[in-house]
Amino acid sequence: MKVWVDHLVRGGVVERGILFETDDDGTVIGETSTDTRPPDALGLEVAAPGFANAHSHAFHRALRGRTHDSGSFWTWRELMYRAAGRLTPDLYRDLATAVFSEMVLSGWTSVGEFHYVHHTPDGTAYPHHAMELALADAAEAAGIRLVLLDACYLTGGIGTALLAEQRRFGDADAGAFLARWHSLRDALADRSPLVTLGAALHSVRAVPRDALGAVARGLPASVPLHIHLSEQPAENADCVTAYGLTPTALLAAEGVLSRRLSVVHATHLSDDDVRMLGDAEVTAVFCPTTEADLGDGIGPAVALADAGARLAIGSDQNAVVDPLLELRGLEAGERLRSLQRGRIAPAALWRIGSDAGYASLGLPPPARVGGPLDLVELDASSIRTSGSELPQLPLVATASDVTRVVVGGRVITHDPRGVADRSGASIDTLFGEAR
Ligand SMILES: [Zn+2]
Repeated sequence: MKVWVDHLVRGGVVERGILFETDDDGTVIGETSTDTRPPDALGLEVAAPGFANAHSHAFHRALRGRTHDSGSFWTWRELMYRAAGRLTPDLYRDLATAVFSEMVLSGWTSVGEFHYVHHTPDGTAYPHHAMELALADAAEAAGIRLVLLDACYLTGGIGTALLAEQRRFGDADAGAFLARWHSLRDALADRSPLVTLGAALHSVRAVPRDALGAVARGLPASVPLHIHLSEQPAENADCVTAYGLTPTALLAAEGVLSRRLSVVHATHLSDDDVRMLGDAEVTAVFCPTTEADLGDGIGPAVALADAGARLAIGSDQNAVVDPLLELRGLEAGERLRSLQRGRIAPAALWRIGSDAGYASLGLPPPARVGGPLDLVELDASSIRTSGSELPQLPLVATASDVTRVVVGGRVITHDPRGVADRSGASIDTLFGEAR
């Protein structure tokens, strides 16, 4: 396959007339510069390497527009558990297909699905990894690149058993999680090149101290590992009470901090936490629209980057599915905190949205030789974007300006009306009530 891009915005720099050639799997095998589109090549006007959604829970989409009356993070979580409790493999496939399709339409070309709804509601395993294969089916149907971040979830809180509504998330212990993970890897081996397997530790709330290191050591070294970290002050307080350590210090003590680790949210950190995360060169995945929605707070993104950490973005609860708004939210949070403009340069925002997210998911950089040909085309003359300099589009455009999306060298299209209908029908079934 051949794709020619008239204006390629790569790493914040505009390159003219770039021709990509791929193999059958959609991996870039050649890149040349030419002024005109060859007749056998697809032509894009203004495009950038595709955006990586480094943190998603697809089923949280069901809560969109249903949680704004009142409440806290913890009351939001109650409704989330209600939705989780009613998922079946078929319903999950349907809802995730709609959510992943919405992501593609919005410019996300890859997604790290942080997955913990593993079992039947009473905790009994489904045969043949039914929930996980439903997500793989959904990604293939939607045409998005999926890294399934299968999560270890063992306890309801530090030192407490799983609640009844958490039973379907849990494995018996670290060994049982690792056995299930390796079996899942075998079950996914014959899927399309779009689907790969990563891993996650849910959080220091849900994984006991001795299991943190055991899981990290029991996974192949090349597998990306993600964890929710310090999203809420209560999590930090519980961790300090139980272990005398912050969550970050606990991960350091257990040997879990490393370049392959991505820490999600990283909102409430001490100066020592920031230094340890930077020294380990972890990726910090910020989810600004979710963190704003849930009232989490504003994490120290620039301080983390200055300390040596890498930054990526995710849509998390999928109340908003828009990579450009996540990037804008990252910079907006920094401006609101610091009372200064220009905290994260536009060129850095492009890299955070794309290359850094791909790296966090264990994927090579897109739209480079050896990486997948994943591209997002933007309308640079829309009502929002006209007159703007192309490198500054992350501060200007929204998902509404995404015109075409290429994953693995192929243009992926969906009818937005059909996607909306599929979401609505899945959510009505999930909650069993009229909206
Ligand atoms: Zn999350």
